[in-house]
Amino acid sequence: MARRVHVRVEGVVQGVGFRPFVHRLAEELGLGGTVRNDARGVEIEAEGTDAAVRALLARLAPDAPPLARVESVAAVDVPAVGAAGFTIEASRGGAAAALVSADVATCADCLRELLDPADRRFRYPFVNCTNCGPRFTIVRGVPYDRPLTTMAGFAMCDACRAEYDDPRDRRFHAQPNACPDCGPRATLSVDAPGRDAVEAAAGLLRAGAIVAVKGVGGYHLACRAADAEAVGRLRARKHREDKPFALMAAGVTAARALVALGPAEEAELVSPARPIVLAPRLAQARVAPAAAPGARELGVMLPYSPLHHLLLADTGEPLVLTSGNVSDEPIAYRDDDAAARLGPIADAILHHDRPIHTRTDDSVVRIVGGRRTILRRSRGAVPGALALPLDCPAPVLACGAELKSTFCLAKGRRAWVGHHIGDLRNAETLGAFREGVAHFERLFDIVPAVVAHDLHPDYLSTAYALEREGVALAGVQHHHAHLAACLAEHGVTERAVGAIYDGTGLGTDGTAWGGEILVGDLRGFERVAHLSPVRLPGGDRAAQQPWRMACAWLVAAGAGGDGVPEALRAAVPEDRWDAVARLAERGFAAPVTTSAGRLFDAVAALCGLRTEVTYEGQAAIELEAVADPDAGGAYELGAGLDARPLVLAVRDDVRARVPAGTIAMRFHRALAAATAGACAAAAAAAGLDVVVLSGGVFQNRLLLADTAGRLEALGLRVLVPAALPANDGGIAYGQAAVAAARG
Ligand code: ZN
Ligand code: ZN
Ligand code: FE
Repeated sequence: MARRVHVRVEGVVQGVGFRPFVHRLAEELGLGGTVRNDARGVEIEAEGTDAAVRALLARLAPDAPPLARVESVAAVDVPAVGAAGFTIEASRGGAAAALVSADVATCADCLRELLDPADRRFRYPFVNCTNCGPRFTIVRGVPYDRPLTTMAGFAMCDACRAEYDDPRDRRFHAQPNACPDCGPRATLSVDAPGRDAVEAAAGLLRAGAIVAVKGVGGYHLACRAADAEAVGRLRARKHREDKPFALMAAGVTAARALVALGPAEEAELVSPARPIVLAPRLAQARVAPAAAPGARELGVMLPYSPLHHLLLADTGEPLVLTSGNVSDEPIAYRDDDAAARLGPIADAILHHDRPIHTRTDDSVVRIVGGRRTILRRSRGAVPGALALPLDCPAPVLACGAELKSTFCLAKGRRAWVGHHIGDLRNAETLGAFREGVAHFERLFDIVPAVVAHDLHPDYLSTAYALEREGVALAGVQHHHAHLAACLAEHGVTERAVGAIYDGTGLGTDGTAWGGEILVGDLRGFERVAHLSPVRLPGGDRAAQQPWRMACAWLVAAGAGGDGVPEALRAAVPEDRWDAVARLAERGFAAPVTTSAGRLFDAVAALCGLRTEVTYEGQAAIELEAVADPDAGGAYELGAGLDARPLVLAVRDDVRARVPAGTIAMRFHRALAAATAGACAAAAAAAGLDVVVLSGGVFQNRLLLADTAGRLEALGLRVLVPAALPANDGGIAYGQAAVAAARG
């Protein structure tokens, strides 16, 4: 008696070798029928003995290929029709909710071919297969098939076509399949000796050149990491004064010579997503100091495309591989733009002719106290779907905040958070934001009915939300979105306490919040405590000039001009200091803030570490970097997170010539203790036992580990963002969760 079933498989099942896997399985089990891709995933018709059908259904999910993620297998019995043989059928088109996968680092099989002189793809910088290669960055539409990728312009040669058509081949329907005869080519913009463009580029790098390198999601700028002269030149030409450069090492062994790696860090380094991993810098690391000035950590990644593998092997030593841009602009990913913008910075450009459809930065992760945290979620992770703990009654678009902008589309219980766009402050990033939203709407077949946005009227993301027509708007308070993002990621729909510390976000009272203790759930929140308020003298300029925050905090503590540490006083012209002190006293041009980020600025300035910053969060990062873990003592905050006594104590220690490392450590301890105390009190008052720690300030290792440790010692459950950044890159997903919960 033959049994026939119709099976739907949903999840990440296209472009990952799922159909050939089904084909092999069906042949092994002696089943007849068909398998095909359609708009929702994979559709199977299978006929054979009951035992064989059962075996097929049982093995579809557990035995699926490495890159597949099976979310559901739904089978219904249909009348047997008699089927001889099992075939793979063409895709069915149409709009799609099938999940496009993220870009995947070169697999071991492809790497072997790349390095095998006898292989036809020896040293071919674009070798890939069904188990690896570019995906999201080359997809133009769905279903995921070659004509809808940026490989459409490359006609496969007979050899590649045979692999592509053979269900038993590792390259069956590998959309970016290519070889030196038919596929993309790398070219170098200048003449240099070498077997090929990559070897020639490596020769230039070895000789001290800066080379722009087109990768998977965009261009990088490269030079030898140990070459102080080249690194200095790169920094000067890029106008990137202090922000650390990322490094690429050939493999784990080479990475171990640069940074201290634990097992969790090594697992991240070699994962198919290949993010930049932040880890403590080793004293003996051969890296020019200018690569990461003032930082205790280095960001290291391993090669993730064949081109990178060849470049690192040919150069023979670690490279700086920093984003291909000037200052804080978006990275270049189009060839003409790269030539125009990177030409003046680089001595040569290593191009290739496989277009990048979506610009995608490297992702950045860091392990803190055994917890995985992510600082930027982009290449290798996007567009992977995140779960929502509840159903969206209607499709949602959430527009995020302003800094480290991302957007989020959500439907049912799935949320797709877009790639890192950057700071949404100019026409170029806004253009990338608009294009990204439109692309995701097509990829995942979503027509938003609800558009969620920040309450800040001046954010370009808010303006974009307000101009969408025919939708319901949902304004979500910034820190509530941070809290909701962390709760939703961990599947929590109940109320919890949240300590949300960041730069600033607009509060419901019109002031700039940023040191908030909230009690709430996905639907709503109460503000139960906050850092003591202080003025932001000069508004936005206060965020770029930490000395203004030192001045404002001294004024708030009733000591405006008194006992200002000499070094700080000397760094600021007297009339400027007095003018800012007056702003802080009178409140003119000085909005009120409870920002934790700005408190770090004030303390860093008081310590003489930094009076001006060149990137957001710099003062806090440097304050953490100098903190001496062996130093004893702690300051104290007053009742109700009153930081004024702490600021006066810092000032007194500075004047008593206590080392900055000791002051920084005492400050971190004080803030962690006060935060844990405030959270514990809020939890007790509300009868709750879950505490969320989020907001960009909690990217600080010391503060996070210390606060979490104190809360856990009190028996509370601590939740920290893991799949999304604690910074504003997580806001969009939080907004979507709030919009879904409000219904
Ligand atoms: Zn491969
Ligand atoms: Zn070929
Ligand atoms: Fe924020």
